[in-house]
Amino acid sequence: MPRPIINTDECSACGICVDTCEQDVIEIVRDRATVVNEESCIGCGDCMDECPMGAIEDIEED
Ligand code: SF4
Ligand code: SF4
Repeated sequence: MPRPIINTDECSACGICVDTCEQDVIEIVRDRATVVNEESCIGCGDCMDECPMGAIEDIEED
């Protein structure tokens, strides 16, 4: 199963990844992007492409 790997130290909590992900995988929790719905990730990579901080480092495949 794919899932985004988020470097929370780099996250500015802008919410772009939340808005970008059509699967509702990511939410802002305590001012950091957080994977809340991992099982719905389809590995499209859109969140990683759109993050202006480069905080989404990879889409990991288990
Ligand atoms: S797009 Fe990047 S900086 Fe913005 S909330 Fe998501 S992970 Fe954080
Ligand atoms: S890879 Fe695609 S489906 Fe998975 S969290 Fe990112 S935008 Fe959502």
